[in-house]
Amino acid sequence: MHSGEMSVFPKISLKPEVTGYLRNVFLNKEVLAAVGPQEAESRFQKLLACLSHPPSSTCVRASTHLAPLEDIRLSLEEELKKQQKCGSSAEEPSVQIAPHPRITDVLLLPVDGPRAVERLSSELVVDAQCGSAVLRGAHVFAPGIVASPKYMKAGDMVSVFSDLEGRCTRGATRFQGNKVFVGNGVAEMDRSAIFVTETPARGVGVRMVDPLYKSPSFDGVLPSMVFLQNLPSVVVGHVLAPQPGERILDMCAAPGGKTCHIAALMGDKGEVVALDRIRNKIDRIRQNAQTLSLQSIKAFRFNSTQAVSDEPTQEAEGPPFPPESFDRVLLDAPCSGLGQRPNMASTWSLKEICSYPPLQRKLFQAAVRLLKKGGVLVYSTCTVTLSENEEQVAWALSTFPCLSLQPQEPHIGSEGMLGAGLSPEQLRLLQRFSPELSWEQTDTAASLARRADTDTIGFFIAKFLKT
Ligand code: SAM
Repeated sequence: MHSGEMSVFPKISLKPEVTGYLRNVFLNKEVLAAVGPQEAESRFQKLLACLSHPPSSTCVRASTHLAPLEDIRLSLEEELKKQQKCGSSAEEPSVQIAPHPRITDVLLLPVDGPRAVERLSSELVVDAQCGSAVLRGAHVFAPGIVASPKYMKAGDMVSVFSDLEGRCTRGATRFQGNKVFVGNGVAEMDRSAIFVTETPARGVGVRMVDPLYKSPSFDGVLPSMVFLQNLPSVVVGHVLAPQPGERILDMCAAPGGKTCHIAALMGDKGEVVALDRIRNKIDRIRQNAQTLSLQSIKAFRFNSTQAVSDEPTQEAEGPPFPPESFDRVLLDAPCSGLGQRPNMASTWSLKEICSYPPLQRKLFQAAVRLLKKGGVLVYSTCTVTLSENEEQVAWALSTFPCLSLQPQEPHIGSEGMLGAGLSPEQLRLLQRFSPELSWEQTDTAASLARRADTDTIGFFIAKFLKT
């Protein structure tokens, strides 16, 4: 049971002003009236607890545009068995990979944890981003290491800790600050190769052999056939439901996980225009498209708030585009990311969190103008606030009378959250992934698929039709 482990693994650490803000969101008047103060407080506390833990399953999206799901499942099983054989002396490694019962291109792998792992006297510290990756099955890559034992040599066993507040000085030999144990591993490099080099060290610095949460490392595993993606992100592509031959816009696309999924769902027939504001992220979209053998993606660096132009232009391939240029638009908006898991600590201020809704509205306005009449707009975020989710939907419906909410398929998350003045019918059309709602019932006896559907990152999806 997850409930028992809460005492040994800390809740997410947030600035007090952010905790206070989130408490007001989860204990808003409408929620209090519906479920009462005790249940509302309990959901909020469960949210803080589950955010610091990884989801209970790893989700991979299979390249079903290239091969049948079962063939990919079997190849993945082979690869992961090879990986396990290299890493241990176990005679017959077992790998459990199940197809999702409703989503035709998803494979699920259970995560084993938290496991009872004994701490060693040699301590190595990694930054919080690296620590979160380790909790999801990654090895420690050298650039993530901030402190290591003074005389560490390749081959030494070390206990790995995640520096929660970014306080550890790079190159330190010990660290007494706020840190969390994430498992044991074997150093692949001497300390001098990590810190005392002219060029920054690259590659695996510590191979995790006894992690707190055990799930396979997908580094270099069948790159053209499987793509690591959170389950709600895969749901977004299906909800958008792109059709072969259509012209689709993905307004905030990097690194391109959803862009590639859209192109795959269209059988790579049609055009997927991917925009992102940051230049080097465009290369990631192109690399991902190339790895997955997708030709229909065209990626451009562009500020999507300015992606629509009223100037009569010749039919241009790139942005800006004339109004009503696209059959479907995905706005996977930049957001405060408070649904991401595992996230053991966030140093964000309330001001930073509150900076997103105005930007999301500017992007939304451009999205509505770029969409053809009869077209579909999907808005999604990986955060849990009302202001970036249900309140944006309420604003959109009152600002754009041409938009109406649409049912989503699949709808495996819960309905929208109370507090933004939306009607029960409108809330039912929204899809919110709320891991806190099932946190206590999430036990090992529950089926893998059921746990995978509920124990996800926090996420939000709304689907609109423009008439
Ligand atoms: N859809 C992506 C995926 O599935 O891989 C993730 C997108 S992430 C949530 C949001 C992205 O929006 C970031 O890559 C960020 O660079 C981009 N972004 C932020 N402001 C933008 C703007 N004004 N125009 C275009 N992209 C923007």
